[in-house]
Amino acid sequence: MGQHGNGSGSILLGLDGFEVTAAAVTDDEWRLGVQTTATTVGCVACGTQARLHARRTVRVRDLPIGGRPVVLCWRKRIWRCVEPACAVKTWTEQQAAIRPRAVLTCRARAEACRRVGKDAHAVAAVARDLGVGWATVMRAVADHGTQLVDDPARLDGVAALGLDETSFLRATRTAPTRYVTGLVDLEGGRLLDVVADRTRAAVHGWLDARSRDWLAQVATVSLDPWRGYASALVAPLGHATVVVDHFHAIKLANAAVDQVRRRIQQATLGHRGRKPDPLYRIRKLLLTAAEQLTSRGWVRLRAGLAAGDPTGEVAAAWQGKEQLRAVYAAVGMPAARAALQRFYRWADGVGVAELSRLARTVLAWEAEILAFHSTMGCSNGPTEAVNLLIKKVKRVGHGFRNFANYRLRLLLHCGVRWQTHRTARLRGRSPRLVA
Ligand SMILES: [Zn+2]
Repeated sequence: MGQHGNGSGSILLGLDGFEVTAAAVTDDEWRLGVQTTATTVGCVACGTQARLHARRTVRVRDLPIGGRPVVLCWRKRIWRCVEPACAVKTWTEQQAAIRPRAVLTCRARAEACRRVGKDAHAVAAVARDLGVGWATVMRAVADHGTQLVDDPARLDGVAALGLDETSFLRATRTAPTRYVTGLVDLEGGRLLDVVADRTRAAVHGWLDARSRDWLAQVATVSLDPWRGYASALVAPLGHATVVVDHFHAIKLANAAVDQVRRRIQQATLGHRGRKPDPLYRIRKLLLTAAEQLTSRGWVRLRAGLAAGDPTGEVAAAWQGKEQLRAVYAAVGMPAARAALQRFYRWADGVGVAELSRLARTVLAWEAEILAFHSTMGCSNGPTEAVNLLIKKVKRVGHGFRNFANYRLRLLLHCGVRWQTHRTARLRGRSPRLVA
């Protein structure tokens, strides 16, 4: 390419306000000489036509072209005002696409944010692709991402709210596991926010920051009742129907089955479950939904119980868990109520301590459990889907230490609608574009 402005090169670069003056491949990288298209400007102070005073070259990285990293060498103009009476002497030209002292062009920064946020790519990988440092990419993610996340319209139109906890930092030798609470739009299946901690105060603080109109349109709230969340909702969301969804109810029932299994293991064998122990071997089958068991699974389950559960308490707890599941599987409110009564009678009859405790908790939350049926099966399913996405971001992030950074990454991945261009397939099965 020649020394002077090249039309097609500039079109290919497509950087607003710039033209390409030279191009060369050095060390497998594109070095593109660029300048602004502004050839005449007026003095910022007096408006007199400015004269070119000098040039200064700045180097920034841009998006790759044809798989090669790109360095833009911008021959920046320094203008001079020729009006002797003017207070302004010289100034350096500026362009929105490349900010002063930037390492990356604005569009490369936006793309870095999109890859780290939307695609959940590792910051280090994006930094490597763009040929910049980790901190440069992270700064771009923070700058661009914060705007997206802080957009108040992002939280619009939530009719069903889901609350759930997720671990943020695993326990270490010196500190316990730290949890955060995720707030999810159950209809849209998107993460609204993450608050540090899983306490009443944390959730209350978030709800307190919402407008009255926002709170008024939330009709149902789905939550884990065994956390302090419910009491946080009372004041701001007193009008909403609180639902204990099947996921959390079954989680608690499974915990009861597990507790009984461990107790019986200890009582019959005198030690914690080990690999060859009959109950230990069926620990996962005990938590599997009955209708999901294969015939081989049933055989193993029965054999395990016959060998390791002489008092029948594990089997009784398992049955209780299945009966609580039936409450959720029931069709319509009368059937659900009947199933719930069967569960209570069973828990009363068998007299297994852990199951009795479960029944007391269920009784305390009976209205919220049955509300599952009055709200057309309002489910925390989307929350669980979001939790899977959260796990993915955590895996890529290799254990976050900084909560603000963690929250930003999560919201960019599952809380923001990205407006991206859908690339059309050049060759596809249909529609047939070429005759
Ligand atoms: Zn001037």
